[in-house]
Amino acid sequence: MERHIKIDMEKCTGCKLCELACAAVKTGVFNPRDSRIKICLIDIPEIPVPILLDTCDYCFQNPVCVQFCLPKAIEWEEMESKPERAKVSDAKRIAREWLASVSR
Ligand code: SF4
Ligand code: SF4
Repeated sequence: MERHIKIDMEKCTGCKLCELACAAVKTGVFNPRDSRIKICLIDIPEIPVPILLDTCDYCFQNPVCVQFCLPKAIEWEEMESKPERAKVSDAKRIAREWLASVSR
């Protein structure tokens, strides 16, 4: 078993605190553009889709972003293997699929 960040987009409020925390710890500047996690806001009303970029290094096994996610949409958990990381370009499809699943 190994630990990875588990994403539960249903719990994400789109607050973007994780982006700010990541940017601050990685660059020393509160600029979400430099964050290694992106919260894509899809459609109106917005559906937040958290995406971990390939550059995320889990802060060397101590992910700072997770500590700032109060709704626990991202969590540091034991898993069998590393989950596949979606791309920012997948966010729209992920949001649409989620919307279809909850509209049934
Ligand atoms: S993953 Fe958590 S901290 Fe980041 S935007 Fe969603 S709710 Fe906020
Ligand atoms: S684990 Fe660290 S590098 Fe990865 S998104 Fe979170 S704060 Fe950024």
